[in-house]
Order: sequence, then C-alpha cells, then structure tokens
Amino acid sequence: IEKISIFDVPISAVTQSEALEMAIDFLNSEGLKQIFTPNPEIVMLAQNNQQLKETLQKGDLVVPDGIGLILASKLKSLGLKERVPGIELMDKILEYCSQNHKSIYIFGGKPGIPERAIKNIEEKHPGIRIAGYHHGYLQPGDEEKIIEDINGSKVDVLIVGLGAPKQEIWISNNKNRLRCKIAMGVGGSIDVYAG
Ligand code: UDP
Repeated sequence: IEKISIFDVPISAVTQSEALEMAIDFLNSEGLKQIFTPNPEIVMLAQNNQQLKETLQKGDLVVPDGIGLILASKLKSLGLKERVPGIELMDKILEYCSQNHKSIYIFGGKPGIPERAIKNIEEKHPGIRIAGYHHGYLQPGDEEKIIEDINGSKVDVLIVGLGAPKQEIWISNNKNRLRCKIAMGVGGSIDVYAG
C-alpha cells in the first residue's frame, strides 16, 4: 500500500476496509506493527516536533483520521482515498478480535476509565478477550511494571490512548521490548468507549 506524504508525514492511501485488512495481516504475522491515526492537528504538531515526525514516518499503518487530510490530498491530487477515523478502525479491529479469539489491552485514560471502557467494549463485542488494562497517568518507575504486565498478558492488540504526541512516542520508544502484534495510538477513543 502506497504512502502519500502530507507535510513530510507519510499517510497510507487506504480505504477503511483496506486499513482493516492490513491490521488483520499484522495480527497474523510476526513482530510488532505500529498503527497511528493522525488528524491534521497532529500533522501540524509534527512540523515543530521532529521526534513526532520521525515516529509517524516509521508507522506501519498511518491512517488519515480527519477530512482535512483528504482535502489537502484532493487539492494537490496526491491520492489519499478516504477518511479513516481512528475510532472506527479501532472498533473494527475489536470486532475482528472478538470473532477470532484475539486479545486486547487498554492503556490510557484517567484512573477508572479503562475499566468502564472495557465494560462497554465487552457489551458491544461479546467474547472479546481482555488481556489487561492500565490508566495512562504513570508515576516514575511505573513504566517497567506496565511493560511487564503487557508482555505477561500475551496480548495481541495494545490500545494506547495517551493523547498525541505522547502515545506515538511511547509506542515508538518501547516497540523493541513490547510483545504484541499491534500497538495502536487512539487519542481520546478510550474515553469515548467509557461513555
Ligand atoms: N491521557 C493519559 N495520560 C496522559 C495524558 C493524557 O492517559 O498523561 C489520556 C487522556 O485521559 C485522554 C487521552 O489521553 O483519555 C487523550 O486525550 P485528548 O483527547 O487530549 O487526545 P487527542 O485525542 O486530542 O489526541
């Protein structure tokens, strides 16, 4: 799948269903893949944040989460196909997980929020395997514990909602020691599931 550079941020030229197909391939192949869901604000943030820009450039699937990116692509005939909202891609991945015995770990949101999100996710996607969860407000020293918790849980899909650019940089910094198939940055989506 081709990537289209918007302000030096390569965005995958995928439809919503192609994005899901790629995620399913990731789930059924070796190693960890990074999924990012930048909107125009995040692409703009990356203009003044080299670490964020380089992190996004290394994403395995980087979906255009925002009509502004599609408009920018249209104006210059760059070839992005359609908007792929991160939360909708996340929901389709959750659906796939519930039907294929894959597990998820929810990391992010204020204390109490991941629990509420999981309850609603289980209602919407019965049978989904919950490997674990942790809120997103870490104290110094918590980092090691949470990585151990994630790796011990044998999770397939790690959902990271720490806001941008924290989540992208956290995933990228830890990608070599995280054992899962997908690590996906989801912004405020955990809050949305929590209701
Ligand atoms: N968040 C977190 N830890 C932090 C900062 C933020 O878990 O240190 C969470 C916050 O509770 C919220 C999410 O990150 O659930 C994203 O927030 P926001 O809506 O600001 O991010 P965006 O969707 O705009 O990237």
